[in-house]
Amino acid sequence: MNVLVINCGSSSLKYQLINTDSEEVLAKGLCERIGIDGGMHTYQKGGSDKKKTDVEMPDHTKAVSLVLEALTDPDDGVIDSLSSIDAVGHRIVHGGEKFSASVLIDDEVLKAIEECNDLAPLHNPANLIGVNSCRELMPEVPMVAVFDTAFHQTMPQKAYLYGIPYKYYRKYKVRRYGFHGTSHEYVAKRTAEFLGKDIKDMKIIVCHLGNGASVSAVKEGICVDTSMGLTPLEGLIMGTRSGDLDPAILDYIADKENLTLKEILTILNKKSGVLGLSDGTSSDFRDLNEAAAAGNELAAGALETYAYRVAKYIGAYAAAMNGVDAITFTAGVGENNVAAREQICSYLTYLGTELDKEKNSVRGEETVISKDGSKVRLLVIPTDEEMSIARQTVALC
Ligand code: ADP
Repeated sequence: MNVLVINCGSSSLKYQLINTDSEEVLAKGLCERIGIDGGMHTYQKGGSDKKKTDVEMPDHTKAVSLVLEALTDPDDGVIDSLSSIDAVGHRIVHGGEKFSASVLIDDEVLKAIEECNDLAPLHNPANLIGVNSCRELMPEVPMVAVFDTAFHQTMPQKAYLYGIPYKYYRKYKVRRYGFHGTSHEYVAKRTAEFLGKDIKDMKIIVCHLGNGASVSAVKEGICVDTSMGLTPLEGLIMGTRSGDLDPAILDYIADKENLTLKEILTILNKKSGVLGLSDGTSSDFRDLNEAAAAGNELAAGALETYAYRVAKYIGAYAAAMNGVDAITFTAGVGENNVAAREQICSYLTYLGTELDKEKNSVRGEETVISKDGSKVRLLVIPTDEEMSIARQTVALC
């Protein structure tokens, strides 16, 4: 089967066409600046070079039609006609409590997703625009919604409730949902497969460390806790997001700096994390590593604070599962940042694990990075959210 995977944002659309029999990525690309002047379409066929085209995209339907034209182009395309697209898998950020698994999209499902819009006002409406544009242009093709929140729906109440009046949960469903679920699920499964074990016999901690970052505790294949909350702001210190903090800080800073709650939330989302801690040096870990090596103490401090927070969550989740068999690193930082992994793992020897520094000097490869005989295994498993979405789409079509 050929599955088109769509990840639609408010002004961008990422896509991959995947042959799910061979698991080959036939083509992929990105439409940027949809609805804004200066639109650009980047298209890449198989292993060929990227092709960038300046093209205005007044709306998402135009972007999807450009994608379909590129995929069927006689010279650069990878399929003869649209009838070669057997299904479309859509990434949907928030499925609330309604969706604990991927689902075939129909009008009723669309309505239920729309009812979750309040919980992710920046993401869900954009995801839905992508679905509607695809339905308009490919009305006969089955479409599947794959939710970032679904994998975490197995969390017990003690993990998802906040210590606030219960009525806010009852009335508004204020609770922990968690995100990056597709990645956590994929990486936990691959961890077990890679170690030749049954996931049902394992306690795994997955550290998804990208620009956004989250940790999850996966016991016997089921997610029992995760660090992101009602929104992706909670938990780890991230590229630009603060992660956990004392909520009273909001009022305190608002008062001192004469800012509104919305302005403070923008600061917590966009100007905090390692960017904020390094006094604006960078949110990119490569820049921070360089700056720290060149003697920038705030950059070094930001990296240290970041690693310490990750290590604390790992400790918390080892407690939540009463043990841990494997700790796996994934996403941009987790897969590539050798120094960050070393810093995090320096806190974990009490668990009975020891990092093998030589094995740890890898980037973007599936591998074990703990010493032989380590009680708890440390691994790097590159995430592949698109492949996971494609597989889940096939399973429902
Ligand atoms: P997202 O998908 O959340 O935008 P990614 O998973 O792509 O983020 O991760 C992006 C981060 O990965 C960047 O901030 C960058 O610091 C880090 N990263 C990527 N490659 C490397 C590398 N070779 N060394 C260190 N950090 C890296």
